[in-house]
Amino acid sequence: MAAPSMGGVSLPRGNGQTVRLPRGASLTDLAERIGAQPAALVTALFHLGEMVTATQSVNDETLQLLGAEIDWDIQVVSPEDEDRELLETFDLTFGDEEGDEDDWSARPPVVTVMGHVDHGKTKLLDALRHTNVVAKEAGGITQHIGAYQIVTELDGVERPITFIDTPGHESFTAMRARGAKVTDIVVLVVAADDGVMPQTVEALNHAQAAEVPIVVAVNKIDKEGANPAKIRQQLTEYGLVAEEYGGETMFVDVSATTRQGLEELEAAVLLTADASLDLRANTEQDPQGVVIEGKLDKGRGPVATVLVQRGTLRQGDSIVAGDAYGRVRSLLDEHGNKLKEALPARPVQVVGLTSVPRAGDTFLVVEEDRTARQIADRRQARIRNAQNAQARKRISLEDLDAALKESRELNLIIKGDNSGTVEALEEALMKIEVSDDLSLRVIHRGVGGITKSDIDLALADDVIVLGFNVRAEGQATELANREGVDVRYYSVIYQAIEEIEAALKGMLKPEFEEVQLGTAEVREVFRVPRIGNVAGSLVRSGTIVRNSKARLIRDGAVVADNLSVDSLRRFKDDATEVREGYECGIGLGSFNDIKVDDVIETFELREKPRT
Ligand code: GDP
Repeated sequence: MAAPSMGGVSLPRGNGQTVRLPRGASLTDLAERIGAQPAALVTALFHLGEMVTATQSVNDETLQLLGAEIDWDIQVVSPEDEDRELLETFDLTFGDEEGDEDDWSARPPVVTVMGHVDHGKTKLLDALRHTNVVAKEAGGITQHIGAYQIVTELDGVERPITFIDTPGHESFTAMRARGAKVTDIVVLVVAADDGVMPQTVEALNHAQAAEVPIVVAVNKIDKEGANPAKIRQQLTEYGLVAEEYGGETMFVDVSATTRQGLEELEAAVLLTADASLDLRANTEQDPQGVVIEGKLDKGRGPVATVLVQRGTLRQGDSIVAGDAYGRVRSLLDEHGNKLKEALPARPVQVVGLTSVPRAGDTFLVVEEDRTARQIADRRQARIRNAQNAQARKRISLEDLDAALKESRELNLIIKGDNSGTVEALEEALMKIEVSDDLSLRVIHRGVGGITKSDIDLALADDVIVLGFNVRAEGQATELANREGVDVRYYSVIYQAIEEIEAALKGMLKPEFEEVQLGTAEVREVFRVPRIGNVAGSLVRSGTIVRNSKARLIRDGAVVADNLSVDSLRRFKDDATEVREGYECGIGLGSFNDIKVDDVIETFELREKPRT
């Protein structure tokens, strides 16, 4: 069958063949797979009434629509599916408990604290940390590693609870968006002296969407004006009805400051877990879990806090976490104690990885080091491909340019010493608004030093590389210097924001404003052969400057704009400028319609400073 012609470019028909594309692929990606010109696909879609650029990510339906048109069966594969397939090639699966349910053991609940800003999440997490009956005896100092576990007493039994130590919805949602279900229970903090606020509702929506049970901590009850009953009342509107009102949600009045109600809150978490969740895990299988936090430690190298979800993680295990791999050299708890093993729901710091994984990455323990490395390599390759696809942008603006005009972008690569700061910096940067047609795009982010591959990536486009508390590694510095890549180092977020804002402003088209220079009144009109009419004038204000722009005003109305002071004379001599109160002869080029009493206004255009 002959290839149909669309917009003059031919398209290879698929005859029903299947092509698999990662979710969010662009027409350029599709073009590559089916051997077509990206421009032809842009045109084809254009004819179907959809206007997209060649490198823009296209949604699933649009891809299907286009597929039907050119007779290709387009299958969109999500990154999760892709990863599942990758693991399958190694006979691995992530996420399912193995073995006979009867052999599974109970595990502690994992809790995330959410709520409106300033309602006391951080303070509450700190207070809860110190309720640990076991640590109290040991007198251990806790460090922030992204999660901690406490042991509390319920009905005379010591029971652990794990708290994710990065409060906020962002981390919860980011992890969930990446397919990592970490949280079993959400503690929703609401300040009793304030009430239900936008982020309270947002937190609640996130928790309900994830079908995670909620325990409400009504905080700050020590404060004057605290009204815990009002909080209960308000939350009924959102489907959270307190037990004492016949509902199913446990509300606990607490004060993170006076530490009142903390044990009751812990009990409520355990009771809610017992009532609505069956928290058990197989401790015997190969360990798996999720990365909570990753950072580059000066002495120890890449360090990741992971939450073990199933199996028992041990020193010496071969582990792959996201695109990092390695062998567990040591396991440390939040007190800095070395552990031999970590059971399900235990957060531990893992030392021994080759690079820093991202929060939300999953980890698996595999039989052989080689397998871990291969999986990590394949994931790295996939990430690189995705980045390259994004970075291709500049070279591939196709036809139809008028219709598909692109806005301008400043591309960034952000590297930092831990995932929290990288995320915070990215978030802060994305909030910068300069103008509608200018935007920031983070094409790559990660934890660790700036590597040669970061610089390679930066070379593909106009990219600024930001290092937050990290530096470029040897080869990377050389390459950056040689190729003139803009690498900037920061250790304070606001400084980075200021500079990037300034860089963005520098990219804006300059805006000009008119500045009046002077006005002159026409007293007499001279005819000068070969030159035309010259206005014998008196300078009324400012200065008349030769070559400045001018307009002619008659009886208060502009007669001619866009003129210029082509000649300027004082008596017989050429002058460059003539000041207020002096007489001069002004020639306005070929413009001759000058009359006595006209006013010549002169001005210049100055670039407007940006605010
Ligand atoms: P977050 O933004 O939700 O993490 O809130 P923070 O934990 O930073 O707390 C915000 C402010 O409220 C801080 O000044 C805390 O000291 C204060 N705060 C938190 N909990 C309590 C409490 O129970 N009682 C009182 N009086 N103040 C509290």
